[in-house]
Amino acid sequence: MSIFKKFQRLEESGKKLKKEFGAFFNVVLEEIISSTEAVINGKRVILAGTNNYLGLSMDDSCIEAACQALRNEGTGTTGSRMANGTFSGHVKLEKELSSFWNRSHTIVFTTGYGANLAVLSSLAGPGEIVLLDSDCHASIYDGCRMGGADIFRFRHNDVKDLEKRLKRLSERGTNILIAVEGLYSMLGDRAKLEEIAEIKQKYGAYLLIDEAHSLGVLGDNGRGLVEESGVNEQVDFITGTFSKSLGSVGGFCSSNHPEIETLRYASRPYVFTASPSPANIAAARKALDIIIHRPDLRKRLWDNTYSLHERLSALGLSLGPEITPIIPVRYQDPDEALSTWTRLLENGVYVNMVLPPATPDGSAFLRCSLSAAHTARQIEAIAEAFEKAAAAGNLH
Ligand code: PMP
Repeated sequence: MSIFKKFQRLEESGKKLKKEFGAFFNVVLEEIISSTEAVINGKRVILAGTNNYLGLSMDDSCIEAACQALRNEGTGTTGSRMANGTFSGHVKLEKELSSFWNRSHTIVFTTGYGANLAVLSSLAGPGEIVLLDSDCHASIYDGCRMGGADIFRFRHNDVKDLEKRLKRLSERGTNILIAVEGLYSMLGDRAKLEEIAEIKQKYGAYLLIDEAHSLGVLGDNGRGLVEESGVNEQVDFITGTFSKSLGSVGGFCSSNHPEIETLRYASRPYVFTASPSPANIAAARKALDIIIHRPDLRKRLWDNTYSLHERLSALGLSLGPEITPIIPVRYQDPDEALSTWTRLLENGVYVNMVLPPATPDGSAFLRCSLSAAHTARQIEAIAEAFEKAAAAGNLH
């Protein structure tokens, strides 16, 4: 008998993956040159798959705020929010996020993953229902599982399918929570929030939106899809992360339901983990302030998005359903995605590779995510690398 016997199957598939996709699993950013450039395998490459939408991980004022917090408050909090881990920065950031989202309450968590885990596991328990979009992030699924609610998936962005299920499930006479994302992390499309909010009202359900990829990216003021779609009021819970446009680490939930404060002593992912470090909080606070006061960054991000999208579609590549800063390039089979990914890296461009079963529709794709910090020359270089990779592929 061995406790590791069950690992055998995983090891087998791990070995196969490493053999075929070893280069992909072994990517190390050996030196960070800027938020859009790093050294990988000893070679300088353009980063085109980082979720660093506004380039703020390397912003001077964010770095300075983090350094000051490090000096004044130390390297870590050494405790959970519930015990000795709530510093004044956590409380200030909660107030700032409440005002940003126009909500009465915000809780800051250690990661975005932890925020979804905490919120969903507490909101929906046994006998209650969560209806989630089939493309929702793993943290939303895991939160639902942890809470023990009945989980039902509706087809990705299919409002008719959502309503059909909602109608049937509402006959059970129990609480129903609908979970969607502002921008879906893989295909980069938006939730159909206006229609979803209408249906939610009609059936008396609750609505949670994860704005992880849309904070700072969508809306005139960067307040995500809730702002862009104009249905802010109908959304019960907004969750998100500091690890994308804010360039830091941490997560949050904002809501007008005062009951969410209960999570502070009832939610295990809040109570039983150390709070985000002072440097992470200081960087996130500064970045949020930049999102509010620097709309030019959002404009640059969208200019870059349109120009890369135009270049890639002119190459005849199969792209995602919408034009957003997440641009997936789809391939018929995983081998084609891998060979293109390898050629891109050889040509000095790093993108994410997403393979089944992690892909929403079973296809393989290369996922580009753009940044306000990409220069016009870098955008051109990314497009040229795809062009070269495609040309090399046609020779084989
Ligand atoms: N929600 C979504 C939609 C995400 O894409 C991610 C991160 N990939 C998370 C939550 C988790 O965020 P974090 O990295 O802060 O744990």
